[in-house]
Amino acid sequence: MPSPEEDNELKNIIDCVPTYEHAVDYRPMITHECACGSIMFRIIATFQDYEIATYFLDMECIACGSRYNTPTPVDLDELQAEEQL
Ligand SMILES: [Zn+2]
Repeated sequence: MPSPEEDNELKNIIDCVPTYEHAVDYRPMITHECACGSIMFRIIATFQDYEIATYFLDMECIACGSRYNTPTPVDLDELQAEEQL
């Protein structure tokens, strides 16, 4: 059992794992904000020249574990094209 001091220590963000108790698989829905209100997501990415180079299209809410598809520039183009119809 952790001491009260250990309980108050900040966790490393990589160790913050949701319980998945209320997780929902919303894929292929694309979003910038989870249904729980969180705007933070876990993604799988590659890096090149100190920047994100590529990322997978699945993402998981860091707060509740719900899954969505990542928004991409192609999705924005399609949305804007639909709005012009
Ligand atoms: Zn969530």
